[in-house]
Amino acid sequence: MELIQKLAILADAAKYDASCASSGTISRDAKASSTGIGSTSGGMGICHSYAPDGRCISLLKILLTNLCIYDCLYCVNRHSSNVQRARFTTSEVVDLTLGFYRRNYIEGLFLSSGVIRDPDYTMEQLVEVARSLREDHAFGGYIHLKTIPDADPRLHALAGRYADRLSINIEMPTNQGLERFAPEKNHRAIQHSMARLKDHIDESREDRQQARKQLPHKSKPTLRVKRRPPRQERFAPAGQSTQMIVGADDSNDAIILHNSHRLYRQFGMRRVYYSAFSPIPDASSALPLQSPPLVREHRLYQADWLLRFYRFDVNELVDDTRQPMLDLDIDPKLAWALRHRDWFPIDVNRASREQLLRVPGLGPRNVQRILSTRRFRRLRLADLKAMRLSLKKIKPFVSAADYHPGRETDNATLRAQLTENDTPQLALF
Ligand code: SF4
Repeated sequence: MELIQKLAILADAAKYDASCASSGTISRDAKASSTGIGSTSGGMGICHSYAPDGRCISLLKILLTNLCIYDCLYCVNRHSSNVQRARFTTSEVVDLTLGFYRRNYIEGLFLSSGVIRDPDYTMEQLVEVARSLREDHAFGGYIHLKTIPDADPRLHALAGRYADRLSINIEMPTNQGLERFAPEKNHRAIQHSMARLKDHIDESREDRQQARKQLPHKSKPTLRVKRRPPRQERFAPAGQSTQMIVGADDSNDAIILHNSHRLYRQFGMRRVYYSAFSPIPDASSALPLQSPPLVREHRLYQADWLLRFYRFDVNELVDDTRQPMLDLDIDPKLAWALRHRDWFPIDVNRASREQLLRVPGLGPRNVQRILSTRRFRRLRLADLKAMRLSLKKIKPFVSAADYHPGRETDNATLRAQLTENDTPQLALF
């Protein structure tokens, strides 16, 4: 089969994996050797990911193969699926990556695979691609490897030496869901692998901190010591991530968010990705015929953001018994504010950072600007407007030196007013 045909098949097969944003990485030293060919700071098979700072990076996103000995019901690549199969050799993936990288099409590689022969063999192949890129070609770009949970832990350890990020998909929000839809997978093995990766990542971070402390102080001019610890000491510096399929089983948003919260806490996940289930050809009758609305995936991302950066608790966003689903029509922060009208208005000249973060329309950056500006003067409505804040969104919830919303927050039509003329909201607050 021609390489271009393989690329078409294996790039298309990889599109179902949502877990490839490369946020949180650190810059790699492209000049580490004279043959280094680039580094990351911070068409077909190319996906774009956004870092939290808004930087857009492109990755070659492919599977090594879409052959698989497993038969996960929700997966288009499952053993019993009637799709065209293809397989790259490890050197083909290496050459493709280098070729795209040299042409400036990509800044890195996202590589996943179906399970061929057995988990160890598959993991060896994935590691070999990363090893060859790093060691044979001094590749300084970003590498995200999908990890096979049942593979030998020594292979996971090797993968972390070469990759910036590792990910293991939790797949279904509950153990029961996994047993039902992917009986060959084992929830316990997945969690053990996540725990091991976390240990490696933590140890590597501690070692680097120790090494940094032992370095001579920067200000000693006579000692020309490179302060960056050697590359070998870093284990997956951009951490680990996972993906959960939404809408294949009947797990509600409360179950999904509690699970995500646990994954962040227990395994130090950098990201949990939510992937709305999409119907596949010749699907099992156990699966729904339709995808969940895409906006559900979007609301989950917004709620996830609130948990990580706005200090919300899962129980503030969803209620296991009375309201287990997020409101699809408005973002979860506005939904919370409308349920807690007694919290408002919040005085922008006196409120704490935590209180300001609760105001719909205020994000961490704007809150920081408010806190900095009010050290010098009392803020008026015009100051908020000058910060390019949406007054329509924030006015009912804040007071300023020259403004008070009166009883606006108690207005029964407030929700309708705030969502009037709104197209489905896609921005994060
Ligand atoms: S192991 Fe991965 S590739 Fe194989 S069927 Fe399951 S989800 Fe699909």
